[in-house]
Order: sequence, then C-alpha cells, then structure tokens
Amino acid sequence: MRTKLKSAVVGALLAGTSLIASSGIALAGEKIKVVASFSILGDFVQKVGGDHVEVTTLVGADGDAHVYEPKPDDAKAMASAKLVFVNGLAFEGWLDRLVESSGYKGPLIKATDGIEPAKMEEGHEDHAEGEKKGDHDHAEGEKKDDHDHDHAHGEFDPHAWQSAANAQVYVKNIAEALCAAEAASCDTFKANADSYSKELGALHAEIKAAVAKVPKKRRNVITSHDAFGYFSKAYGIKFHAPEGVSTESEASAKDVAKLIKQIRKDKASALFVENISDQRLIEQISKETGLAIGGALYSDALSSKEGPAGTYIDMMKHNTKLLTEAMAGS
Ligand SMILES: [Zn+2]
Repeated sequence: MRTKLKSAVVGALLAGTSLIASSGIALAGEKIKVVASFSILGDFVQKVGGDHVEVTTLVGADGDAHVYEPKPDDAKAMASAKLVFVNGLAFEGWLDRLVESSGYKGPLIKATDGIEPAKMEEGHEDHAEGEKKGDHDHAEGEKKDDHDHDHAHGEFDPHAWQSAANAQVYVKNIAEALCAAEAASCDTFKANADSYSKELGALHAEIKAAVAKVPKKRRNVITSHDAFGYFSKAYGIKFHAPEGVSTESEASAKDVAKLIKQIRKDKASALFVENISDQRLIEQISKETGLAIGGALYSDALSSKEGPAGTYIDMMKHNTKLLTEAMAGS
C-alpha cells in the first residue's frame, strides 16, 4: 500500500516535471494564435505564417460566412488570439458583435485593405470582358436598364478573393500583420509570402489563358449568388445570379423570373450551383430553362481537405475547369 502510494507520488512528480519541461519547450517556439474569419482567408494565413502560427478558422469548409452564427468556441478562440484576420467589405456582418462579446482587444486585420472594392455593378455585367482601360463603349443603350436590380445596389462586393491578383494583396497584408506581431520571424513570413505570391501569379495567368480559349459569346453563366464579380472582371466571364452579393436576402420570384428571361435572351451557356448555397433555386431554373447544371462552384468557402477545393489554389483551379468545360459545351 505504502509503496504503491509512494510510486504514485513519484509518478505524479515525474509527470509534473515533464509537464514543466514540455511547456518550457512550447514557450520557446510558441506559435502565434490567430483567428481567420473564413476558410479561404485561413488558408492564406496558414500559407504565410507556416509553422509560426496556430490558425483557428471560424466559418469552416462549405460554410456560408454571410449568414454565420458564431458559436461559444469562436469567442474563446478570439479571446486568446493575438491577431484576428477578416475579409472586410461587410462580408462578416456578425463579426463586430463577436469581437465585443469575446473581449478581444488586439488588432483586427482587414485583409482586403488596398484592394479597390468593386461596386455591385462592376464586374457584374458590362465589365465582364476585362475591358478595364479604354473602350467603355456602352453601345447597346439597353444596358443601363439591365441594372435596375433592387438588391444591394451601390454596396461593395466583398468577394475580392475571386481574383488571384487580389489574393496577392491579401497575402501582402497578412505578411505585414504577422511581421508586426512577431518581428523575429518576419523574414520567414516575407519569404513564405513571396513564394506563395509567385504561385498566385502563375495561377492568375493560368486562369486567364484557360478562359481566353473559350469563345467570348459562350462566356455567360448563371450561379446562385453574385460571388463572382471580381472573377468576372479579372478573367472575362459574365455571371448572372438570382441572389445579390449576399446570401442574406432570398431571391424574389421577380428576380428569378427576370433571370430566366435573361437566360433565354442571352443564351447563357451554363448553370452552376455553389458549395455554400441551397441548390433548389438553381435546380428550378434548370428545369424551366432546360439548361443543364455544370456542377458546384466553390464561391465563399473551401471544401474539406479531401474535397476538390481544399486550398485556395485548388479551389480556383477547380472552378476554372468546371466553368471552361461547361462553357465550351460538349
Ligand atoms: Zn458570397
């Protein structure tokens, strides 16, 4: 009995010693605890931070950040974070309340800082051909009338990550914030950001080249919500959607009827569902127009690690493949 007790005490002491030792090691190489509001941003932060960061992502794979409801664990993660990364441009409407309730007092890094935010209209219709400079020939006078959407008018489009060139700005902002938080690792953050940014540059060129192979008149597709304005502007595909730039407000019957009319008029070449939204509306439109569904685009969230869009780069490649194949027709 006595020996048993003694060995238990020794065991506990030993366990205590090793606990102290291991926490000592942990302290020496302690990771910066950071929070990213959604999965795509979480991937960027992980790429730049590498081994130096422990990233908690709030809205995970296939999650819809427009209508997210924070959980108690989110406030806990935020309370112990050194940095919190957000997209901004009114993407995370639930964020301010979460910050307040968590008691987080650290910096709130807006990853879209420095990106020229697109208004709802930009990239939505007439900027779709990437004709940023020069000829804004609004030759067809009816174009203006096509813009009388009654949703989200004049608001900024938050989906800036849908251009790989913008993703490079996210990465730059993340590197700067991490450098400010841990100067000793700044060289590593900058090196990570540089090499990842090179990959993003290559991705940008790859998407452009892939889309350019599709005849212009075929580059006209339908998705669930207006998440592809920046993609449209950067790569030259026209997107239409029954829902606006947020999934918060449901599409009205009028929106849907108008879209169906437009699909018939413009001869849209493909119809897509999205990983974050309800598919029923698109299925209904498919039924009424006879346009087949070309698959699921990843708009506002990555897939699970095992899925086809487990990283940002894979997501953009996957979307580009689906889009170009469906537009090319078979
Ligand atoms: Zn969205």
